Amino acid sequence: MTRWTCWTLTTLLWCLLSGSVLADGRPAPLIDAHSHYTASHAREMTASDLIARLDAAGVSRVVITGAPWQLARDLHTHAPDRVIPLLGAYASDADKATWMHDRELPARLATLAAEGRWAGIGELHLFARDAGNEVYAELVRLAHRHHLMLLIHGDEAVVDRAFEIAPDLRVLWAHLGTEPKPEIVARVLQRHAGRALWIDTSVRDDRIAPRGQLLPEWRQLFEAHPDRFVVAVDAFSTRRWQRYGEVTRQIRQWVGGLPPELQERLLWRNAEDLFEPWLKGRP
Ligand SMILES: [Zn+2]
Repeated sequence: MTRWTCWTLTTLLWCLLSGSVLADGRPAPLIDAHSHYTASHAREMTASDLIARLDAAGVSRVVITGAPWQLARDLHTHAPDRVIPLLGAYASDADKATWMHDRELPARLATLAAEGRWAGIGELHLFARDAGNEVYAELVRLAHRHHLMLLIHGDEAVVDRAFEIAPDLRVLWAHLGTEPKPEIVARVLQRHAGRALWIDTSVRDDRIAPRGQLLPEWRQLFEAHPDRFVVAVDAFSTRRWQRYGEVTRQIRQWVGGLPPELQERLLWRNAEDLFEPWLKGRP
């Protein structure tokens, strides 16, 4: 498939220290299930630069949403085996707070969704007070109609609303939710047991694993739901892209303390399940 080599001595050292490493010393495979490529990132970092960062970090695939959407399309064209493209709803980050009031958005995205290139729609930022928003409901229906996964950054009420509209929708809930507490995440998983709900751990690494040690309450949750969680970097800024290798090492470190099968699930196997329809039938 792709190059898993530890490219630098530093990386090799980290791999060895972190535990998340194959028997021959190569870093375990990793799929970054949630990252961004925006116009300001693109000014600093070409498509080739971005793929070089994945290579250096031993990341096989990255799920990318573009702002504007064309950036994810172009990145996917550049590296079709490495980039899983999401259809971004935002022209720029400024739309995060206002997209739900844009009545034209569903029609614009519907035209693009029909292209057939995309693995999902999002990231959509929405909170409980707006869970009943009609633009959101239309995007949920759009995702469902085109068998696209929906990446949601929001409260549990927003996830509930998605499944109310489309019970068999595939959902990726970002950042262990907006209130990352194991009891809340467990409650949501229980409420939607049997549904296609995955949850990413992005930007919560420090919180769930201070100094690289996964807290027992999170370990328990991951062990109780081994097929529901995926790791991700969420490279949302140029600065975070610069720290890409550091963040993936941090992820490998806390994942490395788990049983090997669960490590594999969190690092890449669950993400492959989440994107299975796209990976199987991709353009
Ligand atoms: Zn994000």
